[in-house]
Amino acid sequence: IQFKDLELSQPVLQALDMKGYNEPTPIQAQAIPAVLQGRDLLGIAQTGTGKTAAFMLPSIDNLRKADNQIPFKSCRMLVLAPTRELAGQIAESAKDYGALAGLKVHSIVGGTSVGKDRNKLHRGTDILVATPGRLLDLIDQKAFNLSGVEILVLDEADQMLDLGFIHALRRISELVPAERQTLFFSATMPKQIKELVGKYCNNPATVSV
Ligand code: AMP
Repeated sequence: IQFKDLELSQPVLQALDMKGYNEPTPIQAQAIPAVLQGRDLLGIAQTGTGKTAAFMLPSIDNLRKADNQIPFKSCRMLVLAPTRELAGQIAESAKDYGALAGLKVHSIVGGTSVGKDRNKLHRGTDILVATPGRLLDLIDQKAFNLSGVEILVLDEADQMLDLGFIHALRRISELVPAERQTLFFSATMPKQIKELVGKYCNNPATVSV
């Protein structure tokens, strides 16, 4: 199977071509069709399996298809990640894959200037990659809200719990619109994660690699 067999758009296929990626990894081959259909997804996968592209490529196409305006002080796709390093990598991937689709990408993480984050998010963005703590700081300051979110991704959810983000994740689940698509990734499935999956996902397609 090749990427061109997966009903991805031309801009996304061209971005993959530029990276020299022709064949999807197993998680990509299984996740991409389900996400393109609009299903919620539970991905049980480690780093290195290609999970970033598994959620980013079909989400870019879903955003393109919906073609909504960038919401004021909000975003259309929110990706939550446990660490600044991972958030930075995901934002770079989003820029690579989303460039030809014309999508605006930002990332916000702890340890940098909140003032700068407020400014860059004022006009909103298509894709925001964030760590949960900094995101809630901006929401509490009324500098950002989650009312525009069409697609929500939780990446490395088990790591986010280990870093003490359970309360933040519960709060965020109350703030995102009920009608949205959720893509949930974790390397392990302890009880607390299963509970979070129940809170966040609606009959998810499950992919385990
Ligand atoms: P990830 O698991 O998302 O951190 O991806 C692991 C690495 O594999 C990253 O460096 C990706 O750029 C790369 N990668 C992802 N998908 C593919 C693919 N289909 N073919 C070759 N490399 C890939």
